[in-house]
Amino acid sequence: MTKYTELRYPLGSQVKAGIDTLNNLHLNTECSMADDIEDLADFADILVSAHAPASVGDIRLNAAAKDAEFRTYSIGVVTDYIDKAREYPKVKQINLHFGMKRWTQRGGEGDYQLQIEGIREIAEYCDSYDLELVLENLNAYWSGIEGASWDEVDWTERNEAFGMSPEEWIAICEDVDRANVGLCLDSSHTCTYAHKFAPEQREERVLAFLNRPELIRHVHWNDNYLYDDRGQNDSHAALNRGTLPTEMHRKIKYLDATLLMEHFHGIDVLREELAFIDTL
Ligand SMILES: [Zn+2]
Ligand SMILES: [Zn+2]
Repeated sequence: MTKYTELRYPLGSQVKAGIDTLNNLHLNTECSMADDIEDLADFADILVSAHAPASVGDIRLNAAAKDAEFRTYSIGVVTDYIDKAREYPKVKQINLHFGMKRWTQRGGEGDYQLQIEGIREIAEYCDSYDLELVLENLNAYWSGIEGASWDEVDWTERNEAFGMSPEEWIAICEDVDRANVGLCLDSSHTCTYAHKFAPEQREERVLAFLNRPELIRHVHWNDNYLYDDRGQNDSHAALNRGTLPTEMHRKIKYLDATLLMEHFHGIDVLREELAFIDTL
């Protein structure tokens, strides 16, 4: 067993934990989508990654959009963000959400090959600043049908992004095929996807995200509920408070990747989580 302070890379928690807590517990941090990247000077010494925006107001960005103007706009929002992130000397990774396959909004129709090219364009921009780009697996979206049984839902007409299944998430990384592009595993998101399957298949489905560990370079480490309806939501539960398999947490702990606990439920819970990590 390895203590959390002895991991390959320092463990991270969220900015909202506060600079004193982060420093006291020897934790790094990430600029989340809820944080203002221009407002994190106090965290500059421990800010190692930055989460690119996935939307502007209610409008979701789509670097895979068939609408060329919207695609260019979406990529521009991300590269503008990278210009701000690179002002922080310790930031080494930019986290990116995939675009949309189909979504009920302007620019909501996407194409796989355009997604690959859009990611390459952003990756090239990152590379010019020696930044790594990590691609985050996305949610299955249950909004409006919460509580529906896994075998009742027709997904063909529902809003969907790229990179939701482990197979497609891995394939996109391989097809992008750039040295500074890797994967960001969000373990809470894996659970919303696994809820599309029968309960007895769900453990295999979430563990399938760890089939190519060498591609994973960053983790949004969260718990979620694999066997009850709460897990249709992106719960971002504290580690060991949900029902993701312990085996999954153990595999995550020993990845050659930066690990970020992407939630903060108070200092007491955080201390429990650190103790849990130490036992894995
Ligand atoms: Zn994210
Ligand atoms: Zn995440």
